[in-house]
Order: sequence, then C-alpha cells, then structure tokens
Amino acid sequence: MSIDNPLRRVDRSLATSADPPSLPRAPRRWTRLHAALIVGFLVLLPLPLAAAFGWFGLNPVQAERTAPVGSLAHELLSGFPDNALTVEIAAAPGASPPPASVSLLWNRMNETLQKGSIRFVSERIALPSAAWTTDALFSVEQSVRQYWPGLGQMALFYLCVPGSYAVDPGVLGLAFRGSSIAVFADTIATTAGGGDPAPITSTVLIHEFGHELGLVGLVGNAPNEDPSHPGHSTDPSDVMYYAVETTAGLGGLLGGAAPPTQFDAADLSDLQTVRNTPIALELIPPIVLAVCWVGALIALVAFWRAGRKARTLAASLTA
Ligand SMILES: [Zn+2]
Repeated sequence: MSIDNPLRRVDRSLATSADPPSLPRAPRRWTRLHAALIVGFLVLLPLPLAAAFGWFGLNPVQAERTAPVGSLAHELLSGFPDNALTVEIAAAPGASPPPASVSLLWNRMNETLQKGSIRFVSERIALPSAAWTTDALFSVEQSVRQYWPGLGQMALFYLCVPGSYAVDPGVLGLAFRGSSIAVFADTIATTAGGGDPAPITSTVLIHEFGHELGLVGLVGNAPNEDPSHPGHSTDPSDVMYYAVETTAGLGGLLGGAAPPTQFDAADLSDLQTVRNTPIALELIPPIVLAVCWVGALIALVAFWRAGRKARTLAASLTA
C-alpha cells in the first residue's frame, strides 16, 4: 500500500501553474496553404466557367449554341467592347448571294453599326440540297465557320444552303442563333420565278441581320412590333415587315415592286435604344469575373492582416 505524498501533489500543481504562458501562434503552414487555395480557387474559378459557357471567346461554339437571336444585339451595334466585325458568308455552289445584295447589306451595316471596321469573308462549301433543321444548319456551321464572336471581335455568319427550311419550306431566310443566319437559295430562286434573285436576296440578308440586332422587339420593347407577328414590324415598307420572310408573304407584297430593303424610322429608333443599353446576358461574365477576383483580393488582404497581427502580438509577448 502506498500513500501519496501531499507535498508532491502541491509541487506538481505549482510546477504546472508555473509553466510559461502559451504564446499566440503565428499562422501555421496549413493555414497559409488554406488561404492560398482559397485565393487560387477564386482567381481561377472564372476559367472553367468561361470554358463551359463560352465566355470571353473561350469555347465560342458553345457560346453560339446557347445564344438566342438578338442576344448579341448590343455588342453588334456598339463599338465597345468589340470595334471590329467580320461577316462570313459560306455558300454552296449556286447559293452565293449576288454581289449587289452583299453590297446593300454592307451599306445597312455601315448605317446601323458603330464599328471601326467591317470586313466580309466569302467561302465556298460543298453541301447537299436538303430540308434543313436548325440543328443540321448548326452542325454544318460548326464544321465550316472560321470567325466567331470573341474578345475584341464581333462576327456574323451567313450560311447559304441549297434546299429549304424543314419546318416551313416557304421560309427564305432564318436567323437561328445569336450570330448565325441561314439563307435558302433555292426557295429564293423559286420565289423570283426565274427572274433576278438579287432584290429578294437583299431583303432576306438585311431582314435576318435586323433580327440579329434585336428587331423587332426581340430586345426591349418596340412600339412598332406587330402583335400578330411577333418579332416583326407593322410597316409594309419596312424590311422588318413579317411578309418579307416567306414565299407566301413576299408574293403578296411584291406586286411587281421590289421588296423593302430599308429599316424604317421606328426600327432605327429601336436600334438606338438597344445600342445604348447593354443586355443582361452579356453582363454576367464580367460580373462573375469581378466578384471572383475582388473576393480573392479581399481574402488575400484578410489573411495578410491576420498574419501581421499575430506576429506583432507574439513579438510584444516575447520582448
Ligand atoms: Zn423575320
């Protein structure tokens, strides 16, 4: 049997209470690593998002796939952030638009867009005559298109195909993505009835261009939008009049006269509003980028200040 010495207990107790006070610890290595991971994550997070959604010119095919008609209207109309426009025309043999139509399109672009430079690029492609769906058109576009919207450059793509639109064989042209337009050359030729297809082609090229600019009412509110034909104008002399887009409508409209190729005053007023108003969709990428990078900066400063405070306290206790 052993009897504990009470004095020893007192000694141990005194010894324990006499231990030097623990000093505040400087940030440990894992803490620094943790902070570095947080900052690095926030800095790099926009990259995978940009690759997934096609922001900042990364993955432009995916960006175009998810871009509704009119979603690039402000970027097309404004000189900022993209001051240059490339208009790419890919056409099957026999489906190329007449030079007079391309020239008129060029005029309308210069009248409506605030770009420092607009250039046209033409390509010949081999395509079968078919009844085209928008998916099939986009599949061809992916394989032949060379210029996509990206940082510092806006782009428009005209795909001139033989055959017709699968959903409605009377459709002459179709804006089917934010910068993608199809032109159905055979349907235009049929509508021209063996005559010069240039006047109708001009109208189709400019009409679909107008849709990409958000006309009529695709972006914002347009007082001149025809409630019976959404996306189109009530004015028969306007190139955005609904009837110019189909064989049936154009046949009734022509009446021996050339179809309209001008945006009317109401359209030009609508375009002015869209030009001055950024679209919410285009603001998302820079906002996400700013939030992530400002968050990284705040985390970096907070970590640096915490470390400095701990070091100052440690120095004052050991002095
Ligand atoms: Zn239309």
